[in-house]
Amino acid sequence: MHTSSRGAPAIRLAGLTKRFGGGGDPAAVAGIDLEIADGEFFSLLGPSGSGKTTTLRMIAGFERPTTGHIYLHGEEVTDRPPFDRDVNTVFQDYALFPHMTVSENVAYGLEVRKVATAERATRVKDALRMVRLEGYDARRPAQLSGGQRQRVALARALVNRPRVLLLDEPLGALDLKLREEMQIELKAIQGEVGITFIYVTHDQQEALTMSDRLAVFNQGRIEQVGTPAEVYEHPTTAFVAGFVGSSNLIVGEAAQAIFGAPGRFAIRPEKIRLGEPSDRVGPDEGSVLGKIRTVVYLGADTRYIIRLDIGGDLTVTQQNLRPPSVDAQTAEGRSVRLTWMRAHVLTLADDPQVAPADTAEGP
Ligand code: ATP
Repeated sequence: MHTSSRGAPAIRLAGLTKRFGGGGDPAAVAGIDLEIADGEFFSLLGPSGSGKTTTLRMIAGFERPTTGHIYLHGEEVTDRPPFDRDVNTVFQDYALFPHMTVSENVAYGLEVRKVATAERATRVKDALRMVRLEGYDARRPAQLSGGQRQRVALARALVNRPRVLLLDEPLGALDLKLREEMQIELKAIQGEVGITFIYVTHDQQEALTMSDRLAVFNQGRIEQVGTPAEVYEHPTTAFVAGFVGSSNLIVGEAAQAIFGAPGRFAIRPEKIRLGEPSDRVGPDEGSVLGKIRTVVYLGADTRYIIRLDIGGDLTVTQQNLRPPSVDAQTAEGRSVRLTWMRAHVLTLADDPQVAPADTAEGP
């Protein structure tokens, strides 16, 4: 539709803000700078109300930024209407036409744009093949499962061959099993079509499973951008450490006592080993003593809440490798040594946010 500079990112957001109410309201989007490469599967991850959908709607053109600029493939589109941007959006609620067949639903956008009948048929067939729905052309939405309906919605967007596809919690209405299957499918489809996908979700597992990179949103700002492994293994703030996976946040006197330094540290519950108080501690390891306060049996894992002798609690999860893990229930009150590799201690930047993590702050 438009010429674009070669090598430019698919999306560039510069100083983007959005305020809905008067000046007193906090900004829904409070200043975002972001580049998303052509062909990336990129997720906007964050809790409810953190500004993900508003950011997506500004990229689509449904919402006008209060300040800032939006570039698609190097061209500024900030003031362009949605239909004049080379993007398509897939919403959670599918919005299929119930009285139309699958192929009529998928063909609808092409019909509106007066694409010739023969080409329309080929493109609809291609789109249905991409989402693995060949043979379903004549069915109506009511005759499809939730996952199949979501695929029709996806085909309806893909048929327009946009360069960027925006997806707003598209799997939110599906049950867990189907959602997990569709996550793998969506990622495979994206790899095949090579279109840039921008995916909004509040589900950290979903974002980690599918994304090439992701941005973690908190209160209208991006706290961290990186690959799933970077964000999980090296969260830079307490918020990210607590929101992507779970973490023990260790600050104040506990940090001083355990690490010999003030500051903000975190350790993942699965990186801590639970052992006898007399266990030896290796030179590359850190350790602390405590008593088991609570044991929660979770099937695949058991979660232990440990009250530290120096004060504060730490959470430890252990895979249930040996039966009978259920006996762990009787472990409450027992003295234990917690040990971890020093390399697994996360050092966090100062962060005024309250993290949704277990916090040991000392006595
Ligand atoms: P969710 O996962 O719940 O969809 P989100 O991260 O996508 O959350 P947004 O929908 O972008 O968050 O909302 C960010 C903030 O902007 C919220 O405080 C929300 O109440 C507010 N907001 C969103 N849309 C509007 C609107 N049309 N009018 C007023 N306030 C709005």
